[in-house]
Amino acid sequence: MRVLLVEDDEMIGHSLKQALAANGFSVDWVKEGLLAQSAMADGGYACVLLDLGLPKRDGIEVLRKARTAGDHTPVLVLTARDGIDDRITGLDIGADDYLVKPYDFRELLARMRAVIRRRDGAAHSVIGGNDVQLDLTTREVLVQGERSQLSAREFALLHALLERPGAILSRDQLESRIYGWGEEVSSNAVDVLIHGMRRKLGADTIRNVRGLGWRIAPERAASVNTAPGGPEAH
Ligand code: CA
Repeated sequence: MRVLLVEDDEMIGHSLKQALAANGFSVDWVKEGLLAQSAMADGGYACVLLDLGLPKRDGIEVLRKARTAGDHTPVLVLTARDGIDDRITGLDIGADDYLVKPYDFRELLARMRAVIRRRDGAAHSVIGGNDVQLDLTTREVLVQGERSQLSAREFALLHALLERPGAILSRDQLESRIYGWGEEVSSNAVDVLIHGMRRKLGADTIRNVRGLGWRIAPERAASVNTAPGGPEAH
């Protein structure tokens, strides 16, 4: 899963990037507000970790502009500022949550999962359909009830496909969800990943649409309206 880290402090940024990578995230790190703005405009992030005190453009301005432009990517504000005003402003203009430095890394991960889940529109942490479901908390896939663990890249791929069941995603779209900037991506990386996934999911679950990309077979990802704890459950 790809995240944008916006942090001008070298030490904090570096350790955060490493820790996130160790937890399976692809991290793009920018150190000032204008670059943050253009990275967000490019899109494809599961979540943005946004420092507020930034060179060139303040984090509040970055967030305000993104929300004004209709960008609903989950944003978690990370700030050293203890002023309650900054936090209130951040939340008012569309931050999904905030953490005040110093914070516990495990809490950061938990809050990231929570804002990503909320964006997925699910009260529970499972997305997908009757045949293929993805557990966003444990990163396991359930194929007709059988659980198996996914690698970070497999998880990012399946998350992208299940988010929009039936939609065709191009090679570029998938690569941008799976890999970070500067990561060496071989021309057949996506094909190799999908080949491996078909062994876990069944051969016909991820379909190739010639010349266009890939999609989840709609009948395998048909939505579960009666999932326990789901929005429709009463
Ligand atoms: Ca800062």
